[in-house]
Amino acid sequence: MSTLRITPIPCLKDNYAYLVETPDACAVVDPSEAAPVIEALGGRQPNALWLTHHHWDHVGGIEALCARYPELEVWGSAVDAQLRRIPKQTRAFEHGDQARWGGHTIDILHTPGHTKGALVYVTDGHAFTGDTLFGGGCGRLFEGTPEEMLASLLAILALPPETHLWFGHEYTVANLRFALSYGGHHPETAQRLKDAEALRQSQLPTTPSTVASERATNIFVRDALKRPHGPEAIASFTAARLAKNVA
Ligand code: FE
Ligand code: ZN
Repeated sequence: MSTLRITPIPCLKDNYAYLVETPDACAVVDPSEAAPVIEALGGRQPNALWLTHHHWDHVGGIEALCARYPELEVWGSAVDAQLRRIPKQTRAFEHGDQARWGGHTIDILHTPGHTKGALVYVTDGHAFTGDTLFGGGCGRLFEGTPEEMLASLLAILALPPETHLWFGHEYTVANLRFALSYGGHHPETAQRLKDAEALRQSQLPTTPSTVASERATNIFVRDALKRPHGPEAIASFTAARLAKNVA
């Protein structure tokens, strides 16, 4: 039974920051902006910010939160620390690192593709995937190759099937509509789209998804999961990503 409490915080147009709480610690993932995070904190004091990558719509709240809570640790990748592109970063992680926080062990996955420094934070059956893996989708390749991105997605989807995946943007409905138009008839994807549309009509988030759900319905990895080691896997991923770029 997980002792973590996770709360999505809608930010900007379609970003999610997350509040991660244990009885004695509180972290914020990807604070896009400070005001909604401070409101969600409701007087609690965070002790760490976990950054999945350096893009402005994920780091935008760091400076104001650090000014308000001077003890804050700011976590991010070694790549982004070296490039000095996450404000106030205090800790730098590489693939396979483990950090202790609030009585939990946090496993760090380096998942390049969207950016060179992209990280996924994994703990206690939960993973924060930033802009690497979205509900039914994946991030654009700003700094990485298709090979890198596909390997990163497959590393996330090698986590236990029940793992909750908390992603950086509310793109699920658009991703699943794309999957059906691009990939054709697929009952599980159609059902997931219905469920996602119902959530959004009630103004509820579609985050988190699960590893099992992504393995079943994420169009970007569908072929690679069947034959992970062939050139077809890369070709199929690349074609889907290019088609989504202009969808
Ligand atoms: Fe991004
Ligand atoms: Zn983003």
